[in-house]
Amino acid sequence: MSRPFVNWSGSLTFTPSGYAEPADEDEVRELVLRARESGTTLRPVGSGHSSSPLVRTDDGILVSLDRMGGVVDQAGERATVRGGSRLKALGEGLYEAGLAMDNLGDVDYQSIAGATATGTHGTGLGFGNLSTQVAELRLVTGTGEVLDVSATRNTDLLPAARLSLGALGVVTQLTLDVQPRYELRRMALCAPIEWTLDHLAELQHTNRNMDFYWYPRSDLTQIRTLNRAEDPIEGRMWAPRRVVGSGPWNEPRELKIGPTHRTIPQDRTLRFEEIEYMLPSEAFPACFAEVRRRILNRHRRTVAWRVLVRTIAADDIWLSNAYGRSTTTIACLQNTSLPYEEYFRDMEAVFRQYGGRPHWGKKHWLTARELRPLFPRWDDFQAARRRLDPDGVFLTPDLARLLEEA
Ligand SMILES: Cc1cc2nc3c(=O)[nH]c(=O)nc-3n(C[C@H](O)[C@H](O)[C@H](O)COP(=O)(O)OP(=O)(O)OC[C@H]3O[C@@H](n4cnc5c(N)ncnc54)[C@H](O)[C@@H]3O)c2cc1C
Repeated sequence: MSRPFVNWSGSLTFTPSGYAEPADEDEVRELVLRARESGTTLRPVGSGHSSSPLVRTDDGILVSLDRMGGVVDQAGERATVRGGSRLKALGEGLYEAGLAMDNLGDVDYQSIAGATATGTHGTGLGFGNLSTQVAELRLVTGTGEVLDVSATRNTDLLPAARLSLGALGVVTQLTLDVQPRYELRRMALCAPIEWTLDHLAELQHTNRNMDFYWYPRSDLTQIRTLNRAEDPIEGRMWAPRRVVGSGPWNEPRELKIGPTHRTIPQDRTLRFEEIEYMLPSEAFPACFAEVRRRILNRHRRTVAWRVLVRTIAADDIWLSNAYGRSTTTIACLQNTSLPYEEYFRDMEAVFRQYGGRPHWGKKHWLTARELRPLFPRWDDFQAARRRLDPDGVFLTPDLARLLEEA
């Protein structure tokens, strides 16, 4: 049965020709085989939190794994989970088993297959994006083959499959590297932007996770940190006795203590659009200075929201936006009731000057021609894609623009 699809922010709407919610891997296989035979496209969809048109298909079938969630198995510090698991439920399931994912992004509404398909990330110098937590996975390829990819099976495909935009197949199962569960303390502090930038390296190095929001209208920042609950807070850069002076300074506030999956993600009720680019960390200071200058000079009156700065550890995943480099990210958010395109395009021009790579799931305007030089293993990914999906079952026009040079 077909029904209109609307993504979380409301900027992506379309009506696929069909919608399927398979109950198991056999049903996924049948869908793929039927689509291949009839020349229809299939797009796997998670929770619909991406605002780039990765899942759009006007004449194809949208496949949701909403009926295929939950923890399948655990052994030591590995947990095997179904692709349709939502992060929130997954966090609870792992917690009950005494386990936790090592890091998470800012929300937990996404599905695990959807989040890892775009390289969803949190913050912290020592943490890669969520795709780096994927040790093994199983997917139904464009030929209907059920393929296990791991350190011992089809290993050559692992750096392609851990972050694949749903272009290699439908990911039905993932084995994650997990940790014994533990508690984190979330704290926040308000400070002028200059102070935050001056102390950024120290803030990043002395906290497990650190990020900050910059508010263009006030030129203030909100610094957010997460540390293990048992770690002393004394002596950290932002401990109260060291944050002194006049002006709009706040005492650091403790917001929450709790298990990782309830402390890292936040609730988001206000809807927003977002562009986020991943920069080589060494390019961040100059890039941020230019972003700030442009926003203050050109966009301050129309930018109603904040800019978020985070870090991601380097990895070796071919389409990861942190491939081969320690990464600092800049995300510009805009309330959905306001226009975003002129602002975001202006920011994209700056990000590109500094070697930025776009977040796959957020707004950007790049196509394969501009993307290819940004990813050293681009051609290897495309070769893997053609091998696993020779007839383009998963290749909608939007994906073709993204992955195939005209
Ligand atoms: C409020 C909000 C907060 C966010 N916070 C962050 C953040 O902190 N950090 C960050 O990096 N990003 C963040 N994002 C972006 C978001 O994490 C990504 O867009 C993510 O991919 C969305 O996951 P999803 O389950 O909604 O997948 P969808 O958006 O539905 O799909 C994303 C991609 O996954 C593919 N896919 C889905 N399921 C499967 C499957 N079973 N097999 C194969 N491919 C599949 C789709 O084809 C598509 O290419 C945020 C987005 C929103 C709206």
